[in-house]
Amino acid sequence: MDCPRCLSDNIAPFNHEGVEFDFCSSCHGIWTDKGELSNYVETRRDLPNKSDLLTDGRQTELNCPKCAETKLIEIPYLESKDILIDKCPSCKGIWLDAKELGSVQKLAQNVDKGHKVHLALKHALSKSRTK
Ligand SMILES: [Zn+2]
Ligand SMILES: [Zn+2]
Repeated sequence: MDCPRCLSDNIAPFNHEGVEFDFCSSCHGIWTDKGELSNYVETRRDLPNKSDLLTDGRQTELNCPKCAETKLIEIPYLESKDILIDKCPSCKGIWLDAKELGSVQKLAQNVDKGHKVHLALKHALSKSRTK
């Protein structure tokens, strides 16, 4: 797999707090397969709100590392234009440039709060069961 941003092949699986991402050691960007980002920031969908349904964004020059011939499209994370992520319209994977994961994480804190509580309860419950 080649890095969509810097085109190097220095991209390798990287376990970040229990979720596996593909991390590029050259440009420090991160590739997340469908479902991985939501899993990590504990939202229901990779892109919360309406962003997840967008299929047309500005086409970038970046090739999807998974589906070779497909170009990634630029889509806002949440409806604000503060942070634009690159998403593959085909496999729905998401590319995050260096440091974008931190910004996404911050924005995601205020999204799907009910879902986060649900996950925390589920987690606590499964812990108490194993005791
Ligand atoms: Zn790279
Ligand atoms: Zn793809």
